[in-house]
Amino acid sequence: MTEEPARLEFDFEGFKKALKVTVQLSIQKTDDEYFCQGEVSGVVDMECARCLGTFQVELSGPIDFILRSQEEQAGQSDVLDDEDYAYFERNELRSDITELVRQALILAAPMKPICDEACRGLCPGCGANLNEKTCTCAAGKTDPRWDELKRLLDRSQQ
Ligand SMILES: [Zn+2]
Ligand SMILES: [Zn+2]
Repeated sequence: MTEEPARLEFDFEGFKKALKVTVQLSIQKTDDEYFCQGEVSGVVDMECARCLGTFQVELSGPIDFILRSQEEQAGQSDVLDDEDYAYFERNELRSDITELVRQALILAAPMKPICDEACRGLCPGCGANLNEKTCTCAAGKTDPRWDELKRLLDRSQQ
C-alpha cells in the first residue's frame, strides 16, 4: 500500500514535504477488528536547524492501529480517537489513515534535523551561510571590555 505523497501535508517545524511515503502493514483479523502493524517509511525534505538549508532525509518508524467495521460504530464520528482506530466499510478504509502516517513520521523525525554533522550554520552576526562563505564578523569583533578601556583613555586625553 502506498500513500500518494501529495496527500501528506506536513505542517510541522522542520518538515517541508513528504516526497515518497510507503506504508507496509501486516494485518491480523479477529472477529470484527483488524490489527494493523507495520512500518512507515518516507523521504522528506527537512530544514536544517543550523543553516536553514533544505535537505532530504529518510525516515522510518513503526505504525499500528486497529481497523473496525463501520457498522459497529454507527452514530460515532469517524474521526480517529486517541486509541488509533480507523474504520472501514465494505473493505474500504473509511477514515483516512494519513494522519496516523503523519504522526508516525513525525515521531521518526529528529527533533533538531541537521543537514550534516559538520554543518557550520549561519553567522549570528550577519546571517551568512558559513558552509558557503566566511564572513568578516569574527575578525572585526572586539571585546567590549576593551571598548570601555578605550573610552576611558579617550576621556583622559581631552
Ligand atoms: Zn545545515
Ligand atoms: Zn557574519
